[in-house]
Amino acid sequence: MKPKIEICLQWLLMCCCTFVHGDRTIGAIFDDGTFLMEAAFSVAVTAASEGQENPFEAKVIRTSPGDLLEAEQAMCSLLENHIFGVFGPKTKGLIDHIQSIADVLELPQILTEPVETQNRNWSAVNLYPNHIAYSQVFADIVEMKGWEEFTIIYESSELLPYLGNVLGIEDLIAGDHILINVVQLPDGDDFRNELKTIKASGSLNYILDCSLKNLPLFLEQAQQVGIMSDDHSYIIMNPDFQTIDIDPYKHGGSNITGIRLFDPTLETITTFITSLNEKVKELSEEEIEDAVGENGLTLDLALIYDAVTLYTTALNAVGITEGANVTCEDSESWEVGSSLMNYVRTVEIDGLTGLVKFDEEGFRSDFEVDILEVMAHGLEKVGSWTGEDGYTETRTFIPPVEPEGSESMKGKHFIVLTALSAPYGMLKESSKTLEGNDRYEGFGIELIDELGKMNGFNYTFDIQEDGVYGSYNAKTGRWTGMMEKIMDGRADFAITDLTITAARQKAVDFTSPFMNLGITILYKKPTKQPPDLFSFISPFSLEVWGWLAGAFVGVSALLFVLGRMAPEEWQNPYPCIEEPETLDNQFTLANSFWFTLGSVLTQGSEIAPIAVSTRTAGSVWWFFTLIMVSSYTANLAAFLTVESKFYAIKSIQDLANNPYGVTYGAKAGGATFSFFKESDNLLYQKMYEYMDSHPELQTKTNDEGLERVKSDDENYAFLMESTSIEYMAERNCDIAQVGGLLDSKGYGIAMKKNSPYRQPMSESILQLQEQGVLTRMKDKWWKEKRGGGACADDDAGSGDAQPLVLANVGGVFIVLAAGSAMAVVCAFMEMLVDVWTISHKQKVSFRDELMAELRFIFSFSGDVKPVRHRESTGSGSGGSKGSKGSKKEEEERADDVESLKEEEIEEERDPSPTPRSEHSHHTCHSRRMSNVLQIAKSRKYSRGNL
Ligand code: GLU
Repeated sequence: MKPKIEICLQWLLMCCCTFVHGDRTIGAIFDDGTFLMEAAFSVAVTAASEGQENPFEAKVIRTSPGDLLEAEQAMCSLLENHIFGVFGPKTKGLIDHIQSIADVLELPQILTEPVETQNRNWSAVNLYPNHIAYSQVFADIVEMKGWEEFTIIYESSELLPYLGNVLGIEDLIAGDHILINVVQLPDGDDFRNELKTIKASGSLNYILDCSLKNLPLFLEQAQQVGIMSDDHSYIIMNPDFQTIDIDPYKHGGSNITGIRLFDPTLETITTFITSLNEKVKELSEEEIEDAVGENGLTLDLALIYDAVTLYTTALNAVGITEGANVTCEDSESWEVGSSLMNYVRTVEIDGLTGLVKFDEEGFRSDFEVDILEVMAHGLEKVGSWTGEDGYTETRTFIPPVEPEGSESMKGKHFIVLTALSAPYGMLKESSKTLEGNDRYEGFGIELIDELGKMNGFNYTFDIQEDGVYGSYNAKTGRWTGMMEKIMDGRADFAITDLTITAARQKAVDFTSPFMNLGITILYKKPTKQPPDLFSFISPFSLEVWGWLAGAFVGVSALLFVLGRMAPEEWQNPYPCIEEPETLDNQFTLANSFWFTLGSVLTQGSEIAPIAVSTRTAGSVWWFFTLIMVSSYTANLAAFLTVESKFYAIKSIQDLANNPYGVTYGAKAGGATFSFFKESDNLLYQKMYEYMDSHPELQTKTNDEGLERVKSDDENYAFLMESTSIEYMAERNCDIAQVGGLLDSKGYGIAMKKNSPYRQPMSESILQLQEQGVLTRMKDKWWKEKRGGGACADDDAGSGDAQPLVLANVGGVFIVLAAGSAMAVVCAFMEMLVDVWTISHKQKVSFRDELMAELRFIFSFSGDVKPVRHRESTGSGSGGSKGSKGSKKEEEERADDVESLKEEEIEEERDPSPTPRSEHSHHTCHSRRMSNVLQIAKSRKYSRGNL
């Protein structure tokens, strides 16, 4: 066939082309609005003219995109220049129109556009790969990947023919059932709704056919919607995929495959780019916006170059040197046009886009493409496709075994979601305009920075503008806020005061906690109370006062009993009388109370214990009172110096019972609110019901809660987490934590379920904890930065005096009890020894004597004790120590009485004051007097008793 055409052409040319002109003009109509096509065309024409006797001349007319009339005028004006053929235009509608004119005039039209309308009988030849072969490339890739389902996402219906074989893939893969979903992108630049629908359909594989302009936009939005994670795969059909910036998608985890028709690193390409850019500069007069970058050469530019090369090669080959002598006005055609066209279809060249040749139908179906994949290091050629061999894998890059631990994070880029919640994430205060991650600071920001350094990853912060951390919405069956974003893959990590809860743990993974806390109450500091008239009671708690009173009564009664038991305490009331008939005891019941009271009030009393037992009891009591009085005095001082405060609430019980009308709430949808909701504790349930029925008491943020607590307009308490209260109380001196913690939990970094990064991140957090870095960071952000420590002095004097409770002074009571017990033992010993001595001396039965003594002691019959065994009576009964009765002695005593009377008369005669040296004598005298009187009494008593 081809040789026949050639012979025919040679003949034709010999007949028709009898004279030779100078330049051969090739026309072009470009309507893409840039200088690039024109520049590429000119560069190609110049290159084709090199070494030619009759060089080619480029005649380009640029028209407004899509303007039919302009294009037609351009065509007519080109025809006036006797052009050898026309290139362009670019838009589908214009192509058809110009093609119809060219058809009539049989003027060759050379196209480089993805348009289906081609027929070998027409005068158009298209260098763009044929749509059937082109769609076969992707059908083969899908087959190689073994997809069982995929979604075709296309932008314009004009591109549908290029999907032909992909749509019919089921017929190609016999027996396999493949689920294909087709979605058209809307006009404009927001595809999120369609992407969300695709996501909701559960499809994980996508074939994307869209313009180069919309491709980066689409990928960016796919990332935002969360369909760009490890589970998702993409095949990009646009042949200019290699020209877009793939950096944001290198580490997203999704598999992205594309194609190219030329390798931008080839020398022919780089040389072409250089010439192209120079030409653009020349054409646009310093306007270099259209300059092509290193990898920026698009297929249409390379194709226009190849088209010019192909066509000029054909012209050179056939030797046509005179252009078409046709006009728009008459319908006469170019006699050589269709023959030339047929010849062009037989030519083969090795162009920038590989081998350019046409099949028998006149289509470019035999072309070669490279299959590319996005890797962490960039685009990598993983295979090639030819019309003959189909897809061949040439993967030279063997993906390394997925590293584990921190290695798996190295070099990766993550989206880290955070919220503007002080001090975890805050906007930096700076006079300069800050960009990117530089705009933020805080505990969470610094922690991510540390983790990034430790694990070698990069990150970009994304802010959760509404501050919603996330809770499960049973109605929609979905999570909200940050949780939703993590689950959807719209962010890789979430860090803020995000509490690890059981419910959240089911939906996402958390690292080990980096901070521990519990729920508590934020409320105004207590107000001052007016002085209390009875504040002297305050140093001891009522319980201690009760014990003190008990000890007083107990010890007094004990002294009374000990006094009766201890023989030493029964004293001769008349020291001058050697053998009294009765003995006196100072520890009467009243005296015992007086003695103990005297010591408690540190006043003392006349009573002085004599026996070991009473002295022991007395000493222990003195010790007890010493400690108690000192403690009382010390605490009283504290009570008098420290201002007493009024506490509207002191605990969660107070808040729940709400005696002073304190309203309360928590952060809506936060972990604190959930705690009350989930709790089965009746008190907390009651509080949940209260908060739930008062949505106006819930807040959007912790800061809002703080403002409401501080506000004088309402009496509001805010339930929140202790670490956040700590931060606020460092800076707001009028608020404080009230009561203890209701629970114990932690903050963690959230990430997608089963994330491989959980373990390295947790390990790093534990390391930072062990090295004390987290503590240092906490001190820095809590106590130092942004006004920390403002309330440090306030707190120093704010301690409240507390009444002493039994736990504070219980030890003294124990000492008192032990001492008293010892005193009792001593008293018994003393009594036994005395009884034994008497029974031995008086030769009476020990038992009888003991019984008599005990009977007397516990009869509590008064403070006078008759002497049972008096030696002078010589009888075996009724005496006591020192009472050796004899008649002689009786007489002596009678004499004593006489002499005492005489002394008395003497004293009456001489009323001068008794000198101090004689005091003892006088005392003895008075005693003797009273003794005399006592003798009379006791005799009566003795006789009566014995
Ligand atoms: N840390 C809480 C959360 O993760 C927010 C504050 C709160 O509920 O007290 O939801």
